[in-house]
Amino acid sequence: MQETKSTIGGLSEQLLSRYSGPCPRYTSYPTADRFKPLDGSIKPWDALKNIRSLSLYVHIPFCRSLCYFCACNKVITSQYGLASSYLDNLLQEARWYRDKVAQVPVTQLHLGGGTPTFLSDGDMRRLMEGLGEIFDLRPGDGVEYSIEADPRTLELETLDTLRELGFNRLSLGVQDFDIEVQRSINRICSADQVTELTVAARERGFESISYDLIYGLPKQNLSSLHSTLDKVLNLQPDRIALYHYAHLPHRFKAQRLINTELIPSATEKVAMQLAAVEHLGQAGYEFLGMDHFARPGDELAKAAHAGMLQRNFQGYTLMPADALVGLGASAISYSRNGFWQNLHRLKEYTQAVTERGNASCRGWLMSDEDKLRQWVITELMCRLSLDKTEVERRTGVPFNQYFFQELKRLEPMFEDGLIYQDEKKITVTEQGRWFVRNVASAFDIYLHSQQTDAQYSRVL
Ligand code: SF4
Repeated sequence: MQETKSTIGGLSEQLLSRYSGPCPRYTSYPTADRFKPLDGSIKPWDALKNIRSLSLYVHIPFCRSLCYFCACNKVITSQYGLASSYLDNLLQEARWYRDKVAQVPVTQLHLGGGTPTFLSDGDMRRLMEGLGEIFDLRPGDGVEYSIEADPRTLELETLDTLRELGFNRLSLGVQDFDIEVQRSINRICSADQVTELTVAARERGFESISYDLIYGLPKQNLSSLHSTLDKVLNLQPDRIALYHYAHLPHRFKAQRLINTELIPSATEKVAMQLAAVEHLGQAGYEFLGMDHFARPGDELAKAAHAGMLQRNFQGYTLMPADALVGLGASAISYSRNGFWQNLHRLKEYTQAVTERGNASCRGWLMSDEDKLRQWVITELMCRLSLDKTEVERRTGVPFNQYFFQELKRLEPMFEDGLIYQDEKKITVTEQGRWFVRNVASAFDIYLHSQQTDAQYSRVL
């Protein structure tokens, strides 16, 4: 195909206009918007009896103040009592799983939100001891306990408590260091606060410190982003997640408080992302894909080199467990049989757990075809290649015949140099890494056969 010479960060405008539109992020396949209401006949948790390892996710939805860009499932409150009674529900829900899950090692535990560190140290201890008793938690070598924290409110004493409870990975929501940007999103946090916490977390033995950053926020520009990145690089976090701000005020009420005139244009956002990747690359960070970066010695970077990366609802990860149990409002779980998700709203979640022990409301039972496509999409997203012979081994059908329609969808991407193929594999090129979601989406049968109301974020 003919390309124009005009480029943004080395990508032609034509490529960008063809492929940078909305597309699923594939933190799961099928994507969560496909889940259907659960009736009594769908019980994907039945497979939890036959697993060898387990991940736990716990959603703590509470926050002290509202960040205007927020798209999370959260409850803004100054009433601590709500959190305390929510904890009772979390532990009640965990107990519901007690006789449904095989007694296996918990290899990963992640607390997300909201703001998990909204919990008092005493309640954090109560939560972890409760979960420890139910799931036989054994913190230590070879297991990942991670927690998201708000650097504006995280106390040093809480870091002590978290380490004592076995947490070894800390994720700080930095977003941007520019004061004007911070004002426009109602999230003021100084670089000094982040510095103090980063140093203190390292002193206390946290093995990995990760920063969340966002580009495309109101008042951001290339220069302010570079300045934020310089401050970030001074602190050398082990991992960086650089997310794109998707402005969807009709879906996320908080975003209505953002002045749309201050949001960078689509072209500016693309330029920002490309510049950030270059900036972080020059500083030695490895670009793992989509929005994740890691220092070369970090476990995630090593896993990427060894072809062992995986994806889950938090993005790229290592050490996949056989199943995930998600506790709390809106949490998603999976097993070999499929997915299930809890009710979103705090009140409905609380009522459901009180009445029936759990709060699942939507889900998906995996067919063999879903499992094949899940594997294909994971290979492309995590290893940037697809072994055709493995597809043939799994299906007993020649690859070109089995995925005839998918190859037709991929044709423009072959022509545009995003992918290439030989007899044995399809490989994503350096340029194609930017559009790996588009490549993966060719194998998403639901995207091409069913309508959805979901609004996916833009690729770039
Ligand atoms: S961005 Fe984080 S801290 Fe801010 S409102 Fe959303 S969940 Fe709470």
